[in-house]
Amino acid sequence: MFLENTVKSCEQFGSIEVICGSMFSGKTEELIRRIKRARLANKKVKIFKPFFDNRYDKTMIVSHDKNQLKAKAIESSQEIIKHIKGYDIIAIDEAQFFDVGIVKVCNKLANQDFQIIIAGLDMDYKGNPFGPMPNLMAIAEDVTKLHAVCFRTGGQAQYTFRKNKDEDLIVIGEKTNYEALSRSAFYSVLKKNKN
Ligand code: ADP
Ligand code: MG
Repeated sequence: MFLENTVKSCEQFGSIEVICGSMFSGKTEELIRRIKRARLANKKVKIFKPFFDNRYDKTMIVSHDKNQLKAKAIESSQEIIKHIKGYDIIAIDEAQFFDVGIVKVCNKLANQDFQIIIAGLDMDYKGNPFGPMPNLMAIAEDVTKLHAVCFRTGGQAQYTFRKNKDEDLIVIGEKTNYEALSRSAFYSVLKKNKN
């Protein structure tokens, strides 16, 4: 992790760290915490988010606790390369929404001397690996999996349950549409809904 990085500073290589988990697990908060810490150490951090995720703001990453930082909204992973000159660290929120090209982009930049911090949902609303996240986790030096609280069981929630019947993979939403559930709560709800 940042500052705890074991890579020797004389090496011209960066690294990749991934923060994953369900909705409400604190991914954006953890991303913001790491960015603030990096900025305290005088590192220049460029933040990216997907263009169409405008739940709170078009150009901010915002946590559910309303912490926020200015970000560049982009439509394709290739755009990252155009905006990073002079920066040390690249932070990406909601990485699950990006195209698969993000995997190559991150690898290429980490092989230069950029440090990449990526936050994103590891599973979609059906409990399947989401977009480029599994591949990003595979190539990362460090993966942090966070959990929300399951309000039904009081246990750790790792699934993002969609409360409505919409079947599109991507439906941008909040607490009215989504609930964080533990394994037992998630699969018993799915079973009930099938019957
Ligand atoms: P993420 O980016 O993973 O969706 P955020 O960092 O935006 O999460 O928000 C985390 C915050 O969400 C928590 O600090 C808490 O205040 C709030 N929250 C709402 N629902 C839950 C829940 N079920 N479990 C844990 N935190 C929750
Ligand atoms: Mg978030």
